[in-house]
Amino acid sequence: MAFLDRALVHLLPAVPRPIVRRIADRYIAGEEIDDAVAKVARLNADGKTATIDVLGEEIHNVEEAQEIVDAYHDSLDAIGEHSLDANVSVKPTALGLKLGYDVGRANVETVVRHAAESDNFVRIDMEDSTTTDDTLRMYRELREAGLDNVGVVLQARLRRTLDDIAALADLQPNVRICKGIYLEPESIAFTEFEEIRAHYLRSLEVLVETASYVGIATHDEFLISEGKRIARERYEFQMLLGVRESLGRELVKDGERLRIYVPFGRQWYEYSLRRLQENPRIAGYVATDTVGRLFSRNGS
Ligand SMILES: Cc1cc2nc3c(=O)[nH]c(=O)nc-3n(C[C@H](O)[C@H](O)[C@H](O)COP(=O)(O)OP(=O)(O)OC[C@H]3O[C@@H](n4cnc5c(N)ncnc54)[C@H](O)[C@@H]3O)c2cc1C
Repeated sequence: MAFLDRALVHLLPAVPRPIVRRIADRYIAGEEIDDAVAKVARLNADGKTATIDVLGEEIHNVEEAQEIVDAYHDSLDAIGEHSLDANVSVKPTALGLKLGYDVGRANVETVVRHAAESDNFVRIDMEDSTTTDDTLRMYRELREAGLDNVGVVLQARLRRTLDDIAALADLQPNVRICKGIYLEPESIAFTEFEEIRAHYLRSLEVLVETASYVGIATHDEFLISEGKRIARERYEFQMLLGVRESLGRELVKDGERLRIYVPFGRQWYEYSLRRLQENPRIAGYVATDTVGRLFSRNGS
């Protein structure tokens, strides 16, 4: 990352929300379910599938967690009503994990059971390392309760991931493998770019042997081409909305299955900040936005 980009990453939390909103617009479908439906319909028309994420990480009480659960019920209903090719991704903390394991687990289970009724699928996202044990426990308990329409995420950044794959093997899990967005201490995580890549590929190699299905979630061209070599069946590629769209189009053109992660909701700030912070050309976006606004002001 160039100096200006690195400096901006640290300054972003100080940038006023309306500006963050504008420059992060490409990463989120909008605030309402209709925005997500319209976005997914367009992705489907372009030959891509989707996974809908209801934004909301900073919940403080069971009522707020319930609002997120309700939004997932609406999303699953909307997927059915509009015959969309999409499933949903849930964050355990948004559904109440930090209010207590049982609260989070019960809410995730409700969404998974609703999805099962319409033959749909729920991916449990993986958050920072304070949640890994609980999230994997939740996944196991749901599977052991007979729910098969649920998958989990593992992060190549974490040193424990190969052990987690081994521990999950008896469930023949459906796993999304990603690098991991949350920066973790070196004691538990790889911190070097090439180390994370190598651990990603090793994890993928083991997953194609033990998992029932693998979501290869990355925009890293090297990992994508290695992914094509390693995974022969029961896999798909996954990308985030608004990131490397031309690479996504190429994958679809090559006949690969590609799922796009489509977040929507009023709590867009934390997600947007994370996406902007990993954009290697953040300064370019801020500049384009500023210049764009100057022009539109002059034109009005
Ligand atoms: C579908 C999906 C689901 C995910 N779910 C989780 C999860 O549950 N838990 C979790 O911790 N992480 C999750 N992630 C995030 C992931 O862990 C990484 O943080 C993120 O995908 C960037 O890693 P990368 O593999 O794309 O490699 P990188 O090396 O970070 O990126 C490769 C290239 O992609 C481009 N790029 C990447 N990000 C951006 C961006 N924001 N804006 C513009 N260009 C960009 C750049 O050109 C970059 O050089 C998910 C990612 C995807 C695609």
